[in-house]
Amino acid sequence: MKKKLLSALLSTAMVASLLVGCGSAAAPAADAAAPAAEAAPAAEEAPAAEEAAPAAEEAPAAEAAAPKEIGTIGVAMPTKDLQRWNQDGENMKKELEAAGYTVDLQYADNTVATQVSQIENMIANGDSILVLASIDGSSLGTVLEGAKAANIPVIAYDRLIMNTDAVSYYATFDNYMVGTKQGEYIRDTLDLDNAEGPFNLEIFTGDPGDNNAQFFYGGAMDILNPYIDAGKLVIQSGQKDFAEVATANWDTATAQSRMENIISSYYAGGEKIDVVLCSNDSTALGVENALESAYKGEWPIITGQDCDKPNVKNMIAGKQSMSIFKDTRTLASQVVKMVDAIAQGTEVPVNDTETYDNGTGVIPSYLCEPVFADVNNYKELLIDSGYYTEDDLK
Ligand code: BGC
Repeated sequence: MKKKLLSALLSTAMVASLLVGCGSAAAPAADAAAPAAEAAPAAEEAPAAEEAAPAAEEAPAAEAAAPKEIGTIGVAMPTKDLQRWNQDGENMKKELEAAGYTVDLQYADNTVATQVSQIENMIANGDSILVLASIDGSSLGTVLEGAKAANIPVIAYDRLIMNTDAVSYYATFDNYMVGTKQGEYIRDTLDLDNAEGPFNLEIFTGDPGDNNAQFFYGGAMDILNPYIDAGKLVIQSGQKDFAEVATANWDTATAQSRMENIISSYYAGGEKIDVVLCSNDSTALGVENALESAYKGEWPIITGQDCDKPNVKNMIAGKQSMSIFKDTRTLASQVVKMVDAIAQGTEVPVNDTETYDNGTGVIPSYLCEPVFADVNNYKELLIDSGYYTEDDLK
């Protein structure tokens, strides 16, 4: 039954064009992986919000079409440990089911082997489309050969899957913009263009196996580097290169122990920490835990991303300065539009065809726009919009 449905699906003109799309994405570009800095112009040239309009208008037509003749949608999420992925998974399931699909949702406990076997099962079960948020973007090439052989379209969710031409589409937030918003916040809050400084800065970014981490770091450093070069921002630890400031698995405890070491090695004499660039909330939380236990000075400026509950609580308590809000409902509904378009054989909505090269070519992408959040607007963004209840943040 599923096979019949799938072959019907694959015979549509759209899937033919999808495969052409994949083909062009497969053009050899072995060392073409785009460094974050180079991605800047493209990312900036493609304002997600504006270009989203036509795609958004196309969606109702797709939704109104005849019942979808498509089997299960396999959805793989990295872990239940971080709040954001629970929210992503739940939203995806809810929205796909509301649109009439059957969903196989799996979480992999941040273990690559588990995720690989979950994807193997999805392929073996004949799932029609895969939506995958990878743990390590470079570890899915082999398993996805099976998806390609079975003509199963693959949508990379939030994180790009690298070095495989099995990936059809990518849906994410504008990762470079996340980094620039964090960098601009630091620049503007310290008034780096006018203040004398120097200010002490430390840097925490994410997992080296997550392509997004390079974009977050690249976006922020493109803003901050001129001030570091001019001596207005000083990194007492000297830890600045991506490899030195990366946090394996985005792990809170790992960030905490690195921050504790930095405090005891470079700030034990009462030196002030003015600012800590943290690429996301799980690393920010580790930094905040370390400061709480080992640092006596005033709270520095601390950036974050995701608006995780503990971090919003810290923001309200004056410990974290800002976070980037990536409404997982927006991303989920964008992915449902992609799934719908594939299922209905209509044009798949994308708004960026330049930025995300996965090593086999550029993957057509849809970039949602991240939003700045702080103690002044969190109520409107998070509570009034129904993302959290007031009780969630107590
Ligand atoms: C996501 C971030 C998240 C991080 C850790 C990244 O790929 O884009 O939103 O904080 O992973 O889970």
